Formats: sequence, C-alpha cells, structure tokens
Amino acid sequence: MNNPRAWTFISDKQKGLVDSISQYCEGAEHRCCARHLYSNFTLAHKGLALKNLFWTTARVTTVPEWKSAMNELKDISEEAYNWFLDKPPSQWTRSHFEDHSRCDILLNNLCEAFNSSIVVARDRSIFSMLEKIRHQQMIRMNAEGEAAQRWDHAFGPRIVKIIEKAESEARYLKADYEGNQKFEISSRDGLRWNVDLTEHACACRKWQLTGIPCPHAISGMLSRDIGIYEYIDPWYSKETYLKCYSPVIHPMSGLELWPELGKHPLNQPQKRK
Ligand SMILES: [Zn+2]
Repeated sequence: MNNPRAWTFISDKQKGLVDSISQYCEGAEHRCCARHLYSNFTLAHKGLALKNLFWTTARVTTVPEWKSAMNELKDISEEAYNWFLDKPPSQWTRSHFEDHSRCDILLNNLCEAFNSSIVVARDRSIFSMLEKIRHQQMIRMNAEGEAAQRWDHAFGPRIVKIIEKAESEARYLKADYEGNQKFEISSRDGLRWNVDLTEHACACRKWQLTGIPCPHAISGMLSRDIGIYEYIDPWYSKETYLKCYSPVIHPMSGLELWPELGKHPLNQPQKRK
C-alpha cells in the first residue's frame, strides 16, 4: 500500500480481518466497532455503572480523560479493567484514534445500514444480487447528488447544525487571545484549552478528530470576529459532496436482455450444510 494513512478501516473484531488488514494494509488504522466490543464486554461485566464507564472510555477524546475513566472503572471492578488489557486502545477509543481521517466514528453503523439495505438481495443468485445492489446504488448516487444541489449553504445541513450548537456552547466560554491565531479558552468551572487556529487544533482534540471546529475553537473565533466556516475541513463542503456523487452508475436492461447470458464462466457455489 503506497499511503497507509489514506485508509481507515472499521470492522467487528473478526480475527481474519484484523490479520488481513495488518498484513495487506500495513500501517493503516483499523478500528473495531465499539458496539461489538461492548456486547463481548457485557457478557461478563454487567451493570449500569460499568456500561456508562465503558461508553465514557470509548467516547472521550484525550488520553488523560481516558486514563481517568479507566481508573474509575478499575475502582468499580478490577476484573472489568483487566478485560481491556489485551485490547489496544487505538482500536476502540477516540482518545487514541489517529486524526488524519477527520472521522471520529466508533461504530460500524455504515456497514450495518448498507447490509440491511441489501438484505433482500443477499439470498438471490449472484447476478441478480449484484444487479439489485447496482440498481439501488444508481438511485442513491443520483438522489444524494440532487439533494446536495439544493443545499443553500456551502456546507451540509448536518454540519451547519453542529456549528450552531457549538456556537451556543461557546458563549459560556472565555477566550483570551495570545496572538498568532492562538487562544487560551477557559470555562466557568476552571477548565482550560489551548487552541491554535492555524493548526486547526484544540487541546480537546475534537476539532482534529472531526475536522469541525469545537466550541473552544469557536469561542476564540467569535471573540475576534473570525469566520467559522473558513475553518471547517473541505471534506464537508457542498463542492466536495457534489464531486463524490458526480460519477454516474449507468442504467441497464434486465438480465433476460443481456446477450452473453448463459455463457458466463461462474460455477454454481458448492452447497454446504
Ligand atoms: Zn476543543
């Protein structure tokens, strides 16, 4: 693989996948779906307190927050704490995720959504299954592109909502400008974050993980009248979205009209019990 940093995988913790990805995509980030991890965890470690701590350890974005949540978990159950010892945190907690993908997802909802959308196709023969998927993707590619055309903003509605929410949180923060596009942001309860606009970075790491400025960064921007939308990563822009959906999946006639039908080289799959 030329550039392993161009790839981030997420899967359940299936041993074969973990080995193959590390063999063929050496250096690429491989996350394991936290919901799958939790369903294993909860087999032996039950209770609401442990459940909440599991999700806190997965969701926090900095190493110190993660360590403190892990210590809290250890205080409740040493066994539950030990369960994590052979699970590399880089696979399941945001605090250890790399940030180059600008994506903080913990769950493989996107594969599950795709899987459930093709459920009707999966038990068909291979041609009609692929045809069903092609047809569905043809409609989807076009519908998403058309929807993006209608956005009246340079960024998608989901991003605009996130920014509006962060803006209202930012109003409770105090921003001190240091110069050079750097700020020290403080909250009423005495917490402080170091923000660097040039680097698109905040000590909370949320900005780096998502590419969308966090409330701390926004607080700095608001204090100096700096445009927030200029600091959102271009991956979320209408322009990028339209580029993603510009390729066309071509329409096709039904299988019975294909000239080569009946001569394809595929053998019947072997039946297994
Ligand atoms: Zn922040």
